[in-house]
Amino acid sequence: MDLGRRDLLLSAAAVVAGSSTVARAATDRPLGYAIVGLGTYGLGVIIPQFANCTHSRLAAVVSGDAAKAKRVAAEHGLPDRSVYSYATFDSIRDNPDVDIVYVCLPNSMHVEYTVRAARAGKHVMCEKPMAVSVAECETMIAACKAAGRKLMIGYRCHFEPFNLEAMRLARTGAAGKIRYVRSEHGFVQRDPSVWRLKRALAGGGSLMDMGIYSLQAARYMTGEEPVAVTARESTDRRDPRFTEVEDIIEWTLEFPSGAIAGCQSMYSANQNHVLLMGDQGRIELEPATRYDGNHMWLGKDGREREIMPPPGSGKTQFAGQLDHLAQCVRSGAEPIVSGEEGLRDMRIIAAIYRSAREGRTIRLDGRA
Ligand code: NAD
Repeated sequence: MDLGRRDLLLSAAAVVAGSSTVARAATDRPLGYAIVGLGTYGLGVIIPQFANCTHSRLAAVVSGDAAKAKRVAAEHGLPDRSVYSYATFDSIRDNPDVDIVYVCLPNSMHVEYTVRAARAGKHVMCEKPMAVSVAECETMIAACKAAGRKLMIGYRCHFEPFNLEAMRLARTGAAGKIRYVRSEHGFVQRDPSVWRLKRALAGGGSLMDMGIYSLQAARYMTGEEPVAVTARESTDRRDPRFTEVEDIIEWTLEFPSGAIAGCQSMYSANQNHVLLMGDQGRIELEPATRYDGNHMWLGKDGREREIMPPPGSGKTQFAGQLDHLAQCVRSGAEPIVSGEEGLRDMRIIAAIYRSAREGRTIRLDGRA
């Protein structure tokens, strides 16, 4: 992505983050979201966030567990006709309360539910990773385009005040010219039976789940697209958790400016860190991309000081994300993290895996 577009995105995100101050037109009723998948994220994190939204509301739930769906609907005052199973999902087309479908399912199910939602005439918010392959991402983009519907990826960090401030500082040269980025994300995955460790459902291991934060940070902090990647995987295949997917994976991205990003993800330690090293200072975030409690420092001239996002940064990152798509649907604008952005990441992820497998640098700019 070129710098001009990045800066545009940054200012759009800043507007979104502060949009609680923007008066809502009388006709601007909050748009209705259907949450597909009432798991840890859909039910535990996203649904409570509608309380912080201005332009979005919960309008329906879709779940394989009828009793859970009914209970959640009742708790949120939804009528019975706004409760769907995976089998009845397509009839959501007849529900005028639903404008947007939010796919919070295991990664390999994202393509199916995005395509079905688009065919039902709904706009789509899809969780990260967008899908499990480049081809699936392309299918999702094509389906939404054919239906004339928006597609956005749940890249909440583009609405997170510390990350927005770090991007602004990096762009305005607070640390000089950014020469090197480090980003590590991981957590201890203890249960060998979870879908995240099954290739068919997850599409990969820590890279698909947490590594995408490291990759995203390297891209949105530098505002550049990598031209080459070199990766190395370290997985103990005797560990029952890692018979199908990777544990530790490290990769180096080379950017056109000469900046380098050393990224990593793992399922065997907790880490959440982004460091931007410039020729005049450093910007560090740790934790960097959590739901809350992130911290940031600027090191310069031999001193280190804590940086807070500007006052009035507004909504939570989740509400900012949910309202952004609603506002894009209203205005016709493209989401700042559209399907194309998810596809860009998936192309790089495919190259990271290929580089680790083949033990060589993979060019991303078409050069030999
Ligand atoms: P989860 O396991 O807690 O929930 C998954 C949901 O999918 C459950 O309701 C489950 O019943 C349903 N499901 C349907 N078919 C299933 C199947 N065959 N196997 C397993 N579950 C099935 O997972 P989660 O943590 O809520 O993750 C869901 C999606 O959200 C993933 O794509 C994940 O990457 C993403 N996510 C994003 C963030 C973020 O910060 N943006 C955080 C967590 C998860």
